Amino acid sequence: MSSANYVFTPPATPSLPVSGNSARFPVNRIFCVGRNYHAHAVEMGRPVDKATMKPFYFTKSPSALVESGATVPYPTGTGNYHYEMELVVAIGAPGFRVSEADAPRLIYGYAAGLDMTRRDLQLVARDQGRPWDLGKDFEKSAVCTPILPIGDLGVLKSGAINLQVNGETRQTADLSQLIWNIPELLADLSQFYHLEPGDIIYTGTPEGVGPVKSGDRISGHIDRVGDVALVIGQAE
Ligand code: MN
Repeated sequence: MSSANYVFTPPATPSLPVSGNSARFPVNRIFCVGRNYHAHAVEMGRPVDKATMKPFYFTKSPSALVESGATVPYPTGTGNYHYEMELVVAIGAPGFRVSEADAPRLIYGYAAGLDMTRRDLQLVARDQGRPWDLGKDFEKSAVCTPILPIGDLGVLKSGAINLQVNGETRQTADLSQLIWNIPELLADLSQFYHLEPGDIIYTGTPEGVGPVKSGDRISGHIDRVGDVALVIGQAE
């Protein structure tokens, strides 16, 4: 242990379980990709033209992490709390200005995640040209399964991704529909940041986002990656 002396006990390092490993994955930063499936971009009123546009990102605080299977309180300050089902890429090696060809070596593994969103606050911020933090970076808003090491999976290029609320399907798509695929995202993001082991990247949600209320049960699935679950509790 460090001999550093703090004025209060520092918070624990945010981390996730790793499938098949008793050691945990310490989470450094949480990056999220905006508008990375065409049909979702359209439903948000902001279609994407890959020929003329670049991906964009926002971040969540690592302290916003919550493990799959949790019950979270309906968050404060919103009347339109949304799910977004997403593939999460976990980084296991440093990378800065990597090429698409070199990008796969950065991947530690994958997870299934929920980018929970206070949609009303996000849209007010978006439409007023303000930061998205109140809508996106709030407590318990980054839900994630254990990390599945990449093993023989390689770079995921396809696979079903879907989400149910109370057993009713709300999102259904395929990873092949990502506008910017995993190597493209890692190459682009690493132009702006020194990617580090422990960084995780939520790669964007397909169409069909919508609200949940107290008592709802969310379950999401990504082929070969895992199943994420969340229960919405009472408001605090
Ligand atoms: Mn998202």
